[in-house]
Amino acid sequence: MAEIGFIGVGNMGGPMARNLLKAGHAVTCFDLSAAAVQAVVDAGGKAAASAEEAATGREVVVSMLPKGDHVRAAYLGDNGVIAAAKASGSLLIDCSTIDVSTAREVAATAAASGLEMVDAPVSGGVGGAEGGTLTFMCGATDDGFARAEPILSKMGAKIVHAGGSGNGQAAKICNNMVLGISMAAASEAFVLAENLGLDHQTFFDIVSTSSGYCWSINAYCPVPGPVPASPANRDYQAGFTAENMLKDLRLAAAAAADTGTDTHMGAEAEKLYSTYAEQMAQGPKDFSGIINMVRQNTGK
Ligand code: NAD
Repeated sequence: MAEIGFIGVGNMGGPMARNLLKAGHAVTCFDLSAAAVQAVVDAGGKAAASAEEAATGREVVVSMLPKGDHVRAAYLGDNGVIAAAKASGSLLIDCSTIDVSTAREVAATAAASGLEMVDAPVSGGVGGAEGGTLTFMCGATDDGFARAEPILSKMGAKIVHAGGSGNGQAAKICNNMVLGISMAAASEAFVLAENLGLDHQTFFDIVSTSSGYCWSINAYCPVPGPVPASPANRDYQAGFTAENMLKDLRLAAAAAADTGTDTHMGAEAEKLYSTYAEQMAQGPKDFSGIINMVRQNTGK
């Protein structure tokens, strides 16, 4: 079993670290939140006073941080993870959802110190983190992926090698661009159906088995009733927050600008989520709550 350093043990990282402990690994964690660290200590982990200390002498370092700036701050510099991990040749795995260029830049800095770094963002949310059923999308060399896979398999059910460095992040933001667009489309369709006199269950029964079927309708329906587990049934309590959806749509927009890709629908979804999460101050709500903005704009 491995000695693992874990940096960022919040909503996602906390249960992921606890699953590593359950599997018999030794986990030493660091987070800016003492309460988040304590929850891992209570499950049998150890606390470190800094990211540097969490990384020093470990076989593997896993991170689950909010954004690219946090990853940069944790990994780079004299007191960063890369400097601390150099002597032990640790495998570095960043599971945060961040921009492709930061992922590639930090991995290249790690490689220059002789360290393998894998970008391994996840799909599956807090429920998947708790249940150990996450999907990991990995950008790595073949060797890096082979080393990361046994660790990731203790936190997830599906571990995919998407290609070289940054490709995990690329897969993640493209997936979430589809999700943002499809949830906006599903919400508009349900409100239009309401206004045309169709009831929710009838419309759901038809669309979920017709050519309009998609995850946003079949598994995460934005109206209460047809899919009992969807956040619509608990007043749009997240789930996956609207602010995180907006963050991912902005990452997709930045990647589209970098590559000159025409992502018109992605840009429209970004505008809708910016209005919902920021101007309407609904950022902490589940992203499927955007249906309420469609209703409000419809004026009914
Ligand atoms: P979170 O805010 O609950 O956790 C992040 C943790 O990082 C916090 O506990 C924070 O204190 C800590 N942190 C911030 N800066 C730090 C630093 N410099 N050093 C140490 N700790 C630091 O967020 P989360 O929901 O766990 O999300 C983490 C990542 O996972 C994000 O990139 C998010 O986009 C991605 N993600 C989240 C979900 C979800 O459903 N929550 C799903 C898929 C992916």
